[in-house]
Amino acid sequence: MLLLRTSTLRKMMYVLAVAVAMVTLYSIATSPMATGRNRRQALLRQVMVKARAAVFDVALTKECGKVDEKVEELVAGRRQELKKLGGKHMVGLSFDDFWLSEWLDDLLPVLDSAGAKATFFVPTSRIAAASKIELDMLDALVEAGHEIGHHSHTHGNAAEFVNGPAYASLLREYLLGELRPSLNFAYPYGATHEILDASLLPSFGLLRTTDGPLLDDMPSATDIDAAIPLRDAAGAVGALGLDEPVSEVVVNTLFADLAALDEPHVLLFYGHRTSPQARLHVELSKLHRIIAHGRALGLEFVTFADIYLARSLRTRPTVQ
Ligand SMILES: [Zn+2]
Repeated sequence: MLLLRTSTLRKMMYVLAVAVAMVTLYSIATSPMATGRNRRQALLRQVMVKARAAVFDVALTKECGKVDEKVEELVAGRRQELKKLGGKHMVGLSFDDFWLSEWLDDLLPVLDSAGAKATFFVPTSRIAAASKIELDMLDALVEAGHEIGHHSHTHGNAAEFVNGPAYASLLREYLLGELRPSLNFAYPYGATHEILDASLLPSFGLLRTTDGPLLDDMPSATDIDAAIPLRDAAGAVGALGLDEPVSEVVVNTLFADLAALDEPHVLLFYGHRTSPQARLHVELSKLHRIIAHGRALGLEFVTFADIYLARSLRTRPTVQ
C-alpha cells in the first residue's frame, strides 16, 4: 500500500513537472521578452533541467532528507557562534573517499594542533560495508568536530550516465544510502551536471565540484577568483586541489588576498590521501604551515557544514 502510494505520488510529481514545463514553454514561446533564439534556447534548457530534476525530488528527499530541516537541526544552540562566523572569511578543507587510517593517524593530529576543522566526503557504500573498527574511526572524526559528507553511494562518474537513457535508475543507485544529517555533497571525480545539481539541491547545501589542482609556481592575479562570496556559497561550488605539490607562496598569497576582501568570502580545497607513500597526497607539514599562516591572517578553517549554516543565517535570518 505504501509502495503504491509512493509510486502514485511520483507519477503525480512527474505529471506536475511536465505540466509546469509545458506551461512555461508556452509562455516563453509567446512572450514578447523572448527576443532571441539563444535566449529562448537557454530558457528551454532551464525548464527541461527543472522538469527532469523534479521527477527525482520526492525520492531523493525521502532518501537524503530536506536541506531546510537539516539546517534547522544543525543550527540549534549554535546561532550566535555561527552568526559570528558568518562575518569572517572561511577556508573549507575537505578529504575524499575512505582513507580512514591515514586521516586518523596522520591528518587528525595536524588539524588538531593547527586548530582546523575539516570535512570528509565518504561514499555511503563504504559505510554500509564498514567494519566495527572503521565505524569507530568515522565516529572519532565526528567527535573531534569534523564533518562527514555524502560522496555518493557508488562513487560513479555522473558525467558518464547523466545524459543516458538509464539516468533514473543509475541516479537512484548513485545516491542510495542514507547518511544523516549529511548537509553537503561532493561529486566523485568532480563530475557534475546541471540536472544533477537541480536534483540534489532540495537535499543538500553545498555540492562540491573541483576547479582542479593549484599547480602554478607563481601567484596569479586571477587566483583570488576561486574565492566565493559567502552569500553565494550554496549549490555547486568549486574547490582547489591539494593532492599534488602545491606552492606555499601561491596559497599564502591567495590567503592574503582573501583576508583583504571586504565582504566575507570562502575558499574551498580538496585532497584525498596523506601518506607520503601515495603518489598523490597532501603534504602534512606544508598543510600545517599553510593553516598556521591562514589563521594568523584571521581566516577560519571550518567544516563545509559551518560554512553553509553561517551563510544560511546571513541570507535567511528566520532560521531558528
Ligand atoms: Zn572520490
